[in-house]
Amino acid sequence: MKWQLVKKSSVSDVAAEEKTEKEQCKSCLHNVRSCEKALMCETCKHWYHLKCVGVSTKLYEILQTDEGKHFHWFCDGCDSVVMMELCNIAVRCDKIESELTKMNEQL
Ligand SMILES: [Zn+2]
Ligand SMILES: [Zn+2]
Repeated sequence: MKWQLVKKSSVSDVAAEEKTEKEQCKSCLHNVRSCEKALMCETCKHWYHLKCVGVSTKLYEILQTDEGKHFHWFCDGCDSVVMMELCNIAVRCDKIESELTKMNEQL
């Protein structure tokens, strides 16, 4: 009877430990511990260690400040998608601009 009680408490301890652990780093597939610095990708919502994505501690510290709220961080996989979308918008703007100047020339 006594050892059953002991066993029960140890099991709940393990469960509590698991709860305090953060997400898994999508790059190295290791758990992100509370003592480790990591960033969450805003697009895919996955966690990455700073060292796994080559983000400097300085940039990380900036991202933690009030000013950092204006910055967004995306992982390598999402970064290209976001960049492509930005490029498409830029290309579209260029097209519209050149079309506008053409129209102005015709007038
Ligand atoms: Zn990692
Ligand atoms: Zn991502």
